[in-house]
This record gives sequence, C-alpha cells and structure tokens, in this order.
Amino acid sequence: MNIKEAWMWLKAELAANNIDSAALDASLLLEKVTLLNRVQQIAHDDRSLLDKELRELQELLKKRQQGYPMAYIMGFKEFYGLKLKVTPATLIPRPDTETLVDHFLSLNIRGSVLDLGTGSGAIILALKHELKDKIKAYATDVCESTLKVAQENAKRLNLEVEFLLSDWFSNLKPLKFDAIVSNPPYIDENDAHLHETSLPFEPRQALVSDEHGLGALTTLIREAKAYLKDKAPLLLEHGYNQGCEVRKTMLDEGYSHVQTLKDLGGNDRVTLGFRN
Ligand code: GLN
Repeated sequence: MNIKEAWMWLKAELAANNIDSAALDASLLLEKVTLLNRVQQIAHDDRSLLDKELRELQELLKKRQQGYPMAYIMGFKEFYGLKLKVTPATLIPRPDTETLVDHFLSLNIRGSVLDLGTGSGAIILALKHELKDKIKAYATDVCESTLKVAQENAKRLNLEVEFLLSDWFSNLKPLKFDAIVSNPPYIDENDAHLHETSLPFEPRQALVSDEHGLGALTTLIREAKAYLKDKAPLLLEHGYNQGCEVRKTMLDEGYSHVQTLKDLGGNDRVTLGFRN
C-alpha cells in the first residue's frame, strides 16, 4: 500500500465511524507514522509503506475509532498560537479558553499573575508569551505528572513561569497577585457530555467538580480574595449554564464589576470580578 492508498483507506475507515475530521485525521495519522507532513505526503504519495508502518497505522486507527483524541495521539495541541505538549495527564486545551486569554490581554494587567490548575500550562504560557516581562507568571497544579508537562512546555517555549505543586491555594505562600486566572473542573458528575468526544479519555480531576460542577469555582472565588491585591481581578472559565451562579457567588463574596463573557459559540464561558 502506498501513501495515497493508505490515506484513502484511513479516511474511509474514520468517516465510517462518523469522525467529522476524517480527512485531516487520516493525514495526521500518516504524519505520526511516516514523519512526512501533509505536503510531503502529497509529494511522495506513491511511496510504499513499510510493514512496520502499516501495523502502527492499524493500531492508531483502532484507537482513534474508539474515540481516543487526536491531540493525545499526536502528543500536542495548538493553543493561542503555541504548540503545547499534551498527555492523558492534561486536559486538551480548547479554543473556548482563548476567550479568557483575549479578555485578560484587554485588561492591560502588569505584575504578578497566578494560574490555578494549569494543566498543560495553556493559559499562563499564552499570557507570558504575549506579555513577556510585563508579567511575572506563576502556575499551580495538584497533579505532579501534569505539572511536569506544563514545565516541559514552558522550557521548550523558553517562557519563564514559576510552577508549584498545590491543591488550589494550599501550598502557596501568603502572596498577593495582580490577577488570578483558572480553568477549573466544572462539569457535573452526572453530565452526559462526560461520555462524549474526548472527555472519557481526559483526566476526570480536570473535568468534574462537586456541587453540580460548581464546587471548585466556589472555592476559588472564596479563597482567591486573600491572594488578590486591591482592585485585582479573578477570571474564571465555567460551563455554558453556570454564568448566573458564578456571578452571584462573586457578588456575594464582595467582588465588583462582575461580568460574564461569551465564547466563540456565543455561550457564557468566563466570569470575572475585581477584589474590592
Ligand atoms: N470546557 C471543557 C468541556 O466542556 C471542560 C473543561 C473544564 O472542565 N474545565 O469539554
């Protein structure tokens, strides 16, 4: 089988499994195995696959057909123009989270910025990449293997971030930040989405929270006040149906200028407020 035939075979198999991105995934799988990018695959489409490559492709195809995410197969995901390493220990960064980054940049914040539950490091690395020396970046995660991935991303991208293993604020010194951001777990454990798309393969700890998904958000809103300078903002990503609850909790906790922002799909996605 040559590259062209393999691409057609993979595409047909993926499409038969109702995978929307069948054509793209087929060339990515080929790239993973042959190390030829899409352009090179077209240029060398009559190159025969080795038996070993064919066996590898069959394995990867099987995984993909079972729903295993392309980002974990390839080992990376793009976020805010950065190529980030991802593993099953990290949530796969979503375009919706760029809403938080965009709005943060519009606030013209300078000084210390803390990202809680950083995962692959997506948010803090995007901010550091954009703002360079205008901010001093800090990030935590509760999981050591996750934090390692974030650290690796920072190193490869040559971005300076201070990482700390911490369950939310538990290991933080009593510092005061100029801003705190987080994309915490916010899905209800009974939400049917957990069985769909990439979610069954992602770390549950990064997805699911108690109190119908609001547990971590509520903890962050309450505890962040002690770590924010006066007038410093807290920006939180949340579920499409949680804007009202999150605004209410922020207002109850005394934050000011509380507002909710919409993601690219027009859903409530990020709420922010400023410590009084
Ligand atoms: N936005 C993700 C999803 O719904 C969940 C991310 C999170 O829980 N922080 O797929």
